Amino acid sequence: MKLLPHATAGAILSVPVFVWSPSGALIAFLSTTLIDIDHLLFYSLHTGRIPLAPPGPVSAYKKWSYFGPRVQLLHNYETLLVISALAWFYGGLFVYAFLGIAIHLIMDQAEGYSRYRFFRIRSLAGDFFRYRSYRKALRAGSEKEYLVAWRDDWLGHLRHVFGEEKGSEIGEKCGIFNTYKETGIDMSKTGATWRDLL
Ligand SMILES: [Zn+2]
Repeated sequence: MKLLPHATAGAILSVPVFVWSPSGALIAFLSTTLIDIDHLLFYSLHTGRIPLAPPGPVSAYKKWSYFGPRVQLLHNYETLLVISALAWFYGGLFVYAFLGIAIHLIMDQAEGYSRYRFFRIRSLAGDFFRYRSYRKALRAGSEKEYLVAWRDDWLGHLRHVFGEEKGSEIGEKCGIFNTYKETGIDMSKTGATWRDLL
């Protein structure tokens, strides 16, 4: 999701918080808005490049962040659990950080579900294992095969949920065909395979 809806949600949250805690309002606003920084962090680790001129390279990466293997250090259930534990035990500013992060993740999850019927906020451990298997394929020189299989699962999921035509159309928007159009799509794969990856 883009920065503006998150910043708007953060601003709305910070208004009532400001009444009893101005510093809490700032934390609420920043935590709702800034956790997307992990997109940049993963982009740097994944590509070995520093995103000097966002949003150019970052918007290209965004497609990858939906259908490719990726690790998002702040967009996951574990982060939410840790921050909720901190809020529970220490209270104070952690409560506002928890509120901000929870609202951000709910917005992202709702967006991913409405656009792709896909819960993109997942477990950090699962992300790590998936990404590790991708790196393994990369080292073995079979990156393309790995990603084509991954793409087919993703397309299988989209077609399974939205139907043949609309699913393909949505797939186009994700840039899947643009990135890996040279290999035919294995239609024997269905959403069931994709679900195994979640
Ligand atoms: Zn986000």
